[in-house]
Amino acid sequence: MISGPPMAPARRRPIVAGNWKMNTTLAEATALAGSVSEPLSALSGIDTVLCPPVVWLSAVRDVLRGSTVALGAQNCHFEAKGAFTGEVAPPMLADVGCTHVIVGHSERRALFGETDELVMRKVRAALGHSLTPIVCVGERLEERESGRTEEIVGRQIRAALEGLEERGGANLVVAYEPIWAIGTGKAATAQQANETIGFIRQTAGSVLGSGVAATLRIQYGGSVTPANAAELFAQPEIDGALVGGASLKSADFVAICRAAA
Ligand code: PEP
Repeated sequence: MISGPPMAPARRRPIVAGNWKMNTTLAEATALAGSVSEPLSALSGIDTVLCPPVVWLSAVRDVLRGSTVALGAQNCHFEAKGAFTGEVAPPMLADVGCTHVIVGHSERRALFGETDELVMRKVRAALGHSLTPIVCVGERLEERESGRTEEIVGRQIRAALEGLEERGGANLVVAYEPIWAIGTGKAATAQQANETIGFIRQTAGSVLGSGVAATLRIQYGGSVTPANAAELFAQPEIDGALVGGASLKSADFVAICRAAA
């Protein structure tokens, strides 16, 4: 057999998700979804996801029907049902039409006491109900400044992936979100984001195997805007973005998705 030159690794398909957090009225949510669904459906080579507040999921699902834009939730519980007042279970999210769920966002870790172990349980629960978890990891400013980024992010990613090697990997997405960049207008540089995401991929490889890690999609999140998106997406390790503030402005979110497509 004649062997040719080594094949370039296939490019991972970028994924851009909008995290609306605790924003929008019902009317604003349906209007926002309606204004992005057509331009996003016209893009190729990219996955896009909207994560509205949980109470608007079914209304946004109806607006997105027939589009290529997926529906995601911002959080879930790890149990499938039971006496957990105020919580939402993964099968409920699947039932309402979600295909994705954000897990372990830094706001949940910092404000609602989510631990690495809880995040791991949520990741498993989401996967167990055919949802793609978007698993968030990221360091605080003082941790970066004291040279502990890899220690913190490495611990978070190993904990989140624990046990998944038995399944031969899993359909999940990771979002690297340095806490100091979230909602501050001060994004990581493309080089910082690329380097840390490369480290996350390497760490994921030590748990799941390098073959699985090579196909794992890892987003960057933290003050992504139309002005910095192209430079971030040009980095070889960055496979899209998790977007907060800019996802509430339809023109900005569409521009960011276009830059990734
Ligand atoms: C986020 O909350 O996940 C986020 C990245 O927010 P922002 O884009 O506003 O920094």
